[in-house]
Amino acid sequence: MTALEKLAEEKGPQETGGLLVGYFSGDDKDVVITGITGPGPKAQHGRHSFCPDYASDRVEMERIFEKSDGLAWYLGDWHTHPTGHAYLSFLDRKALKSIAKFEGNFVPRPIMLILGRGGGGTSSWVPRAWRIYRLPRTIFGWIWRFDEQEITIFDAT
Ligand SMILES: [Zn+2]
Repeated sequence: MTALEKLAEEKGPQETGGLLVGYFSGDDKDVVITGITGPGPKAQHGRHSFCPDYASDRVEMERIFEKSDGLAWYLGDWHTHPTGHAYLSFLDRKALKSIAKFEGNFVPRPIMLILGRGGGGTSSWVPRAWRIYRLPRTIFGWIWRFDEQEITIFDAT
């Protein structure tokens, strides 16, 4: 959280974001985030948008994977809402769906963590985490559900 808040503050009124890394436990019910990355050099930061630097993210992810002896892997993304609450926007849902639909994805139910600041410029950052679920296919196509996750913050050791 300290690292996330620092990155969020650095970009001020503009959105920023990065990757969440760690592992799944308890039959994939628990998502353990052990690390985060910041935005790549070519990420685009807008007041109401954030576009990741995918090439840089991929390199960074491989570096983390190797350093952790294969224990830490991609769990999802995080980004900020400097002027809004930490709820999923329409585009956030779309992005999470496309991550979940990505063919051969190692992470079938990715997480999106949002740091919101609905109270305005100097209020504190409030994190909310969302996880996508794909329900069984129906005649109407795939149906997706976005569930808020309970967040427990542990002290770094
Ligand atoms: Zn968003």
